[in-house]
Amino acid sequence: MFSRILIANRGEIALRIIRACRDMGIDAVAVYSTADRDAAYLDLAHDAICIGDAPAASSYLNPAAIMSAAEITDVEAIHPGYGFLAENPTFAQMCRESKIEFIGPSTESMRSLGNKVEARRIAQKAKVPLVPGSKGVVESEDDATATAAKIGYPVMIKASAGGGGRGIRPVHNKAALRTSFRNARAEAEAAFKDGTLYIEKLIERPRHVEVQLLGDRKGNMVHLWERDCSLQRRNQKLVEESPSPHISARTRRKLCTAAVRLAKTAGYYSAGTCEFLVDEKENFYFMEMNARIQVEHPVTELVTGMDLVQWQIRIAAGETIKLRQDSITQNGSAIECRINAECPDNDFRPSPGKIEEFIPPGGPGVRIDTHAYAGYTVSPYYDSMIAKLLVHRPKRSEAITAMKRALDEFKISPIKTTIPIHQKIFAHTDFVNGNVDTGFIERTFTSSARAGA
Ligand code: ADP
Ligand code: ADP
Ligand code: MG
Repeated sequence: MFSRILIANRGEIALRIIRACRDMGIDAVAVYSTADRDAAYLDLAHDAICIGDAPAASSYLNPAAIMSAAEITDVEAIHPGYGFLAENPTFAQMCRESKIEFIGPSTESMRSLGNKVEARRIAQKAKVPLVPGSKGVVESEDDATATAAKIGYPVMIKASAGGGGRGIRPVHNKAALRTSFRNARAEAEAAFKDGTLYIEKLIERPRHVEVQLLGDRKGNMVHLWERDCSLQRRNQKLVEESPSPHISARTRRKLCTAAVRLAKTAGYYSAGTCEFLVDEKENFYFMEMNARIQVEHPVTELVTGMDLVQWQIRIAAGETIKLRQDSITQNGSAIECRINAECPDNDFRPSPGKIEEFIPPGGPGVRIDTHAYAGYTVSPYYDSMIAKLLVHRPKRSEAITAMKRALDEFKISPIKTTIPIHQKIFAHTDFVNGNVDTGFIERTFTSSARAGA
């Protein structure tokens, strides 16, 4: 086992990984930008190294700065968390060439799965159903027009390098295609430095259901069941839960085995997630695979009782998975709310600033993953997520009740947060009845919905 690990990330996930290290008796080395120098979680790390200025490009996205911190502190492995360099195969390669283990999958599977067009090819090879769409990359506006006509409207233009819900454009008719194609390309170029696009059929009223996987380097692969992430705003997840209230036991089994098949075909190891869209008839279609730990991984930890971050570390250290698939069970119901420093009444505009009051909820079945506290200043430089609030109860109805209570208890001021929208979601009968899809939040709660537009 490793004795010292560097965490190339910040915020709640850096703290989550520090906790796993402490539970395993491993020294954690944290890194921070000048904007994060006062973050309290840095004190829980064995060592903390400043790696540059506030803009991510100067710090958390700066491989040279991170590698020199790793060398100074003599770590044996680097955990990238999610976002930043987590899915950057060049960085993973750089670590491994410096004899520092990158806690994640092989560089090759990161490279192929990180490209969504390539990932679709792997899905096809694994005989996993995928969203109907272009054979490969769509090069030009003319190419896009022809492809969309063949697939049939509505379609989705998507960035091959996409992530975090960006570079995705729904197109409902031919008239809108060329402009959307240009806009998607510009957004993808700005966000990912890669304007490569492809086109998929737009699945109407879909549910987002994903499967958590765990594989080792010997080819052992298990799934840890599914998470439902259908509650989204602008293709970004807001609420996640397991089990999914939207699928039958039969579909669940088919989905999970398809995900295992795909990951095996990709030669995948470490923790990873296979994302699917599920339509109203429970047909499912592969969408993408995320080659990293996900934001919503604690949902799975609660229902399976397994520590995913510890498993990532153990697999990176060469341990084999000796778990039998049928020993991994889905117990009870877990739900997560992403608490973001955003103003739901003002188009979810980021709301950074100093937190004066911070009173977290507690009681039976509540888990909170957060780096925030009273006196903490939310930086405008990074992601706006400041806490993940989770509940775990025997039944979904009980989990909903517990979440309502926890949301009412949670006091954060004066910055604005997404707590009020979560309260509305959990009070809505469609959510309570498991009757939602990925468009639910926009249809029900946005200003245009309120105006009746
Ligand atoms: P998850 O599926 O784990 O919930 P999200 O899509 O919410 O992941 O992304 C988690 C974080 O990682 C966000 O900060 C998001 O902006 C970032 N992220 C995800 N994919 C990419 C990518 N390809 N490039 C840059 N940032 C990304
Ligand atoms: P990202 O890498 O940004 O997470 P995904 O490919 O996972 O991108 O898509 C993000 C979200 O966008 C999905 O969860 C879903 O809500 C929506 N989406 C993506 N593709 C389609 C599609 N073909 N039809 C309908 N919705 C889609
Ligand atoms: Mg996704």
